[in-house]
Amino acid sequence: MRILVVEDEETIADVIATKLRCEKYEVDVSFDGEDGLYNALTNIYDLIILDIMLPKMNGIEILKEIKENDISAKVIMFTAKSELEDKLKGFNNGADDYVTKPFHIEELIARVNVQLRNKGGKVKDILEYSDLSLNIRTSMLTCKITNESINIPYREFLLLEYFMNNKEQIISKEQIYDKVWGIDNDYESNNLEAYLSFLRKKIKIIGSKVNIKAVRNLGYKMEE
Ligand code: CA
Repeated sequence: MRILVVEDEETIADVIATKLRCEKYEVDVSFDGEDGLYNALTNIYDLIILDIMLPKMNGIEILKEIKENDISAKVIMFTAKSELEDKLKGFNNGADDYVTKPFHIEELIARVNVQLRNKGGKVKDILEYSDLSLNIRTSMLTCKITNESINIPYREFLLLEYFMNNKEQIISKEQIYDKVWGIDNDYESNNLEAYLSFLRKKIKIIGSKVNIKAVRNLGYKMEE
């Protein structure tokens, strides 16, 4: 399960991220509203913890944008103000829960767990595109026409999952590095082309007509 924390107070963001990682969640952190919205729209999260008072763009605006873009992540709003007005704004715009500061980290974690348990039933085990079917629990990729299957190793799986969640869209190298290797990693040392070529071969081996095409100067695109 992957969680985005959008919080400009670094000590608070650190406490939350550290605790969530201890609970075995994957966590990304954004320290301002614009970066938070960018992350929310370009990655796939199960849950977003969203502060209201943020530099560049506030939490209510971000919430509106992510709902307009049909992002399915659960949202827990986070605010220093305990005023009813903020809570109501959050709920009117589709927040699933709210936590008021000062907060107990255990309470926040409990609320996160509740939201993700509710979401549990809706999470799809299978991603599909064209003749391909990817089981995200077993990493097994199947071609529905030939009925051939192949196991996809970790990095290639992350790549493929990203393409299947953004089918027929052009994805830039930067977005791929960000998603598959994480933004802190040294781009040069990760050979994206090599991983893509391993992945293309596996897709071909099972007899699928799907391809991951390079789009000149822009990035890559999965298509039939
Ligand atoms: Ca804040």
